[in-house]
Amino acid sequence: MPEGDTIRRLAERIDGRFAGQRVRRCVVRDPRLVGVDLTGRVLLGADAVGKHLLIRFDDARTLHAHLLMTGSWRVGPAATEPDWRRRVELWLDDGRLTALDVPLLGMIATADEASLVGHLGPDLCAPGPPDLVTVVANLEREQVRPLAAALLDQRNVAGWGNLYANELPFIVGVSPNQPVGAISGLDDLVGIGAALIRTNAARGPQNTTGRRLATDDHWIYPKRGRPCPLCGTRLVGFDERESPWGRVTTWCPACQPVSAGATVVNLARARRLLALHPARRQPMFP
Ligand SMILES: [Zn+2]
Repeated sequence: MPEGDTIRRLAERIDGRFAGQRVRRCVVRDPRLVGVDLTGRVLLGADAVGKHLLIRFDDARTLHAHLLMTGSWRVGPAATEPDWRRRVELWLDDGRLTALDVPLLGMIATADEASLVGHLGPDLCAPGPPDLVTVVANLEREQVRPLAAALLDQRNVAGWGNLYANELPFIVGVSPNQPVGAISGLDDLVGIGAALIRTNAARGPQNTTGRRLATDDHWIYPKRGRPCPLCGTRLVGFDERESPWGRVTTWCPACQPVSAGATVVNLARARRLLALHPARRQPMFP
């Protein structure tokens, strides 16, 4: 799923392969890009801000993309998908860059990028130490909002998507439905989640268990109806229509009970569950 770590890795791949190269040919098939021709422009570089991808060119313009649930990019080889799925294709010195099924695309002045990403909370996958104090402060303002909804709101924090909104509450033993104001230890939760996504951004692919098998790389997402990997209780959840925040959500009713009073982030549980995960070596891991 394209979350902040995936987009950061994508930006680095595009940057590493194509930065400084000239566009030899350009085909756009997206109605929002009618009239755009990047032929002759130099691709200066690619960057990620949260889940937004920004590809900058030497005419002071930026190609902006958000992959939502469906989009992807082919970096290097020619795409074999049918024409209508290839929304943008650029031929560069060292191969082809293709936007596949990308639902949000636009061309903006590079100077105006803030109009697209300026509202976002701190970017967990940006280079340099992330501003976790602001992330915690933003979450603390969410008092009555369920934890998963607050984690998904990119104005609070940019990067976590639905995978982390499921896995992080499970790892710390807190219900995704628990109001944020009734959770103590938010700073630990944020530190663990930041360590996970930054580790996955650096190493890829997304993994929340530290186990190597691709079938075993997430704890509970999206495994509703199956036994909890820790206690064996049947996992419950919402599908997209049932969920108050519109996303598939899974949790263990035994490990993650909703509490009428305050719930404490279970640091011992998180350390046990992530014993094999290299995120434990990140400095922000509590
Ligand atoms: Zn359980």
